[in-house]
Amino acid sequence: MKHHKFHVAIIGAGLGGLAAAIGIAKAGHRVTIIERAPALAEIGAGIQIPPNSTRILKQWGILENVESLSDRPEEFIFRSYRDGKVLSSVNLPALSEGKYGQPYLHIHRADYHEVLVQELYCLGGKVQLNSEVTGIDFNEPAIHIKGLPDVFPDIIIGADGLKSKCRDSLLGRSNPPVISGDMAYRCIIKAEKMKQNPILADLVQSHDLHYWIGPGQHIVCYKLRAGDLFNIVIACTDTLPETTDMSPADINELRARVTGWDPKLQALLELAEQGGVGRLMRVDEMETWIHSSGKFALLGDACHSTLPYIAQGAAQAIEDGAVLGHLFEKISQPSQLCDLLVIYEALRKSRTSRVVKAATHGRRVLHLPDGPLQEERDRQLLEETPFEGFPHPWADPVMQEFLYGYDAQKEVDRAWERYLSGTFPSTTAAWRSAMKAEL
Ligand SMILES: Cc1cc2nc3c(=O)[nH]c(=O)nc-3n(C[C@H](O)[C@H](O)[C@H](O)COP(=O)(O)OP(=O)(O)OC[C@H]3O[C@@H](n4cnc5c(N)ncnc54)[C@H](O)[C@@H]3O)c2cc1C
Repeated sequence: MKHHKFHVAIIGAGLGGLAAAIGIAKAGHRVTIIERAPALAEIGAGIQIPPNSTRILKQWGILENVESLSDRPEEFIFRSYRDGKVLSSVNLPALSEGKYGQPYLHIHRADYHEVLVQELYCLGGKVQLNSEVTGIDFNEPAIHIKGLPDVFPDIIIGADGLKSKCRDSLLGRSNPPVISGDMAYRCIIKAEKMKQNPILADLVQSHDLHYWIGPGQHIVCYKLRAGDLFNIVIACTDTLPETTDMSPADINELRARVTGWDPKLQALLELAEQGGVGRLMRVDEMETWIHSSGKFALLGDACHSTLPYIAQGAAQAIEDGAVLGHLFEKISQPSQLCDLLVIYEALRKSRTSRVVKAATHGRRVLHLPDGPLQEERDRQLLEETPFEGFPHPWADPVMQEFLYGYDAQKEVDRAWERYLSGTFPSTTAAWRSAMKAEL
């Protein structure tokens, strides 16, 4: 059967919007991204790319490009905050490549974004910049853009991030993100500078991923760009003024965050010259991500913003994009569009809901105050063989399988078979419970 070619408009050119655009363009459809920013760029510092993402990048044929710009971590080490004592360690190549067949990577966000943008252009995708979306007509469907003519695609995907205008439009009310109680400092230090201080020698020589865990905060460090750069994130109690969600970091305040912590961290942050700090926020779980017209769906942070405690937010947005892409490979006629979105939501919502909860739980475990619970956590990390609920989520065998074993292509193939065989329930809720019953 000759497949119908759709025009899909995606609002937002973040990692999630780009992933959806690539997936859908690869399925042979026309894609336009509508982006508010005047230029395509990703701010911030490093990002961890777990194997559930690298599996998708491989399928798209761009893993090699991403890898060439990435650093490949070795050990993933949890350390005690006071002295840096190793509490637990996971060998990432053995876990990621050995068990799940794909690498675990660290990359600068700007590099990751650029590879995705180039791939989209190679596929003929278009990006309309300087276009702030102000509202959506879901039935038409049409996208209203500030000071510009409306855009009329066949279907709209809202990928406009945490403070999503698309989410507001779908809900019919303002739905700003809520504070989580934490904020994150991000800064990058040149590895060259670190070589001058012997206390930092092992950090510079190894390619390990380090987490120092302590009361109310944890600190993440890893290398970027073939080890030339060292990426540091401090997730800690939110002290930003109410009116600001993001600002340049006050370097003295940043350094003060590690007073009383491992002397290595203090030496490291002495080298910091500049950085940023941003409030960590989340949105409440939505009843649905799709409009009943069957012409609109949300994806990524816009509908399942995930706190960074298990490094899965972007990975889930990439999975959303891959699932949409595979569904668009299957669809042959416009009458199936509504079903496509229902299947998309059924496949993705329960998974991201579990990921969001796991990330929120991760914060409690990583930030325990000193006391009996922290002592028990550290004892488990030091002495026990990882079990379901183990405090190092990357070592937890059940969480590992759930996060890293995901194969978007297989999920879509299985769902589409059920759809074609006519065992497809007609509402999202019924479909979701039918899928659950089958698992
Ligand atoms: C400190 C920190 C560390 C993290 N580390 C990791 C990690 O290691 N691994 C991981 O997988 N995830 C991580 N995450 C999460 C990850 O960054 C996000 O989940 C991901 O970037 C979300 O992508 P998105 O495309 O959904 O949204 P965004 O990246 O927010 O993109 C939204 C896009 O929409 C555009 N836009 C917004 N409004 C409009 C409008 N009205 N009109 C037009 N365009 C609009 C924006 O300009 C932007 O380009 C981390 C997050 C934080 C805060």
